Amino acid sequence: MDEEVFDAIIVGGGLAGCTAAYVLAKAGCEVVVIERGPFSGSKNMTGGRLYGHSLEKVIPGFAETAPVERVITKERLSFLTETEGTTVDYTNPALSDPTCASYAVLRAPFDQWLAEQAEGEGAMFVNEIRVDDLIVEDGRVRGVRAGDDDMYAHVTILADGAVSLLGQKLGMVPKLDPHKYAVAAKETIQLDEKTVSDRFGVVPGEGCAWLFVGDPTHGHIGGGFLYTNKDSVSLGVVTTIGDIDYSDISVPAMLKRLEAHPVVAPLIAGGDMREYTGRMVIEGGLAGVPELVRDGVLIAGDAGALGLNTGYCVRGMDFAIESGRLAAETVLAAKEKDDYSAASLATYTAKLDDSFIMKDLKHYAKFPAFMEETRRMFTDYGPMLNEIMGGLFTVDGSAPVPLTKKAMGAVKKVGLMNIAKDARKGMKAL
Ligand SMILES: Cc1cc2nc3c(=O)[nH]c(=O)nc-3n(C[C@H](O)[C@H](O)[C@H](O)COP(=O)(O)OP(=O)(O)OC[C@H]3O[C@@H](n4cnc5c(N)ncnc54)[C@H](O)[C@@H]3O)c2cc1C
Repeated sequence: MDEEVFDAIIVGGGLAGCTAAYVLAKAGCEVVVIERGPFSGSKNMTGGRLYGHSLEKVIPGFAETAPVERVITKERLSFLTETEGTTVDYTNPALSDPTCASYAVLRAPFDQWLAEQAEGEGAMFVNEIRVDDLIVEDGRVRGVRAGDDDMYAHVTILADGAVSLLGQKLGMVPKLDPHKYAVAAKETIQLDEKTVSDRFGVVPGEGCAWLFVGDPTHGHIGGGFLYTNKDSVSLGVVTTIGDIDYSDISVPAMLKRLEAHPVVAPLIAGGDMREYTGRMVIEGGLAGVPELVRDGVLIAGDAGALGLNTGYCVRGMDFAIESGRLAAETVLAAKEKDDYSAASLATYTAKLDDSFIMKDLKHYAKFPAFMEETRRMFTDYGPMLNEIMGGLFTVDGSAPVPLTKKAMGAVKKVGLMNIAKDARKGMKAL
């Protein structure tokens, strides 16, 4: 073969791809990232909050120079009915400690920054090229095909995001299962920096992550989210594709509903929409993880369905970064042995098993099924909680009703047995 053979070709310049490129280039490998967008991050979307621990291992102290928006020190979770909201608020400045810090990020600047770090180490980025196919010879992936151009490498890392079409072409990633994916709509609403801090009760530099259950998805599986950026907020909704089939409301309409909700509307009042996007989200948990290794190929990040949603905690970016790093370390070991067979690259799955990725996915393996089976979470618990709160705080001069009677009225509508069963299943799933 006369063509240049790279140590690795990475398809996709998102967080998984850029991290793998950074680690490989830093170790002196010839690596090229092929990204279909005009720059890394241009086509990417997230809620989004980045849990920093995995990038901290790759670039210690990254948040000092990376374009992070705010460090999250305030967590809120609201149960909404059409007109009411009951909110749990947890504030703790210690959440900004670098060992556990999480940051609101906007993907366009953030991914671009990470790509620049990889370029600084010697990785090559080819943007605005879509990889159409993989070159497979004798069952081994030898490189990629983009239009009429072929490029060869010892290993190809697929980091092409959720529902990897290239992974599907290889028969590694199964066809889309509507119960293992969700669809999201998100907008970024411009405010000014002081307004964001004042409205969310945070000091400059610190921010709030807020999840909403119930009304935004009109009782369907999923929920709403809001993250405070420096001078904007990211607001969105997610619902499973399986539910859209029989939903009486579209995903963009769900977002409109959240925007107009009395809990949310005052927070975004006067803001200008800066960006609006829709995207697929992986939701399958452990059961959704496909085959990740074959001769000459590894799959990382969302392409490998490596992500976790526990209802109160949405994670994909730290999984993408960790899996990108582990894929790169696997390639480095394979290079040393000059063996890029599936058997040699299988250390990738062993590394994933040893990492938080598989440990977390295994720990929360029952959670996706719990969400699917516990519809009351999205239909009944919001109204129940809000009825109890309404009973507590409504003073209208009428004859007093004992607190337990008020609360039991709301609880009985859902059923004590149902609550006990759901609580038991929830505890087991978490
Ligand atoms: C609405 C929403 C909210 C989310 N919220 C959070 C959150 O708060 N916290 C969190 O941690 N995670 C969150 N996630 C998940 C997180 O965004 C993903 O896990 C993360 O983006 C995965 O990174 P990745 O690099 O694997 O894939 P991506 O970021 O999707 O990158 C894939 C890249 O591959 C490129 N590409 C695709 N196909 C080709 C091709 N054929 N040729 C060339 N290039 C190609 C794309 O253009 C893209 O740049 C959220 C996701 C969504 C959609």
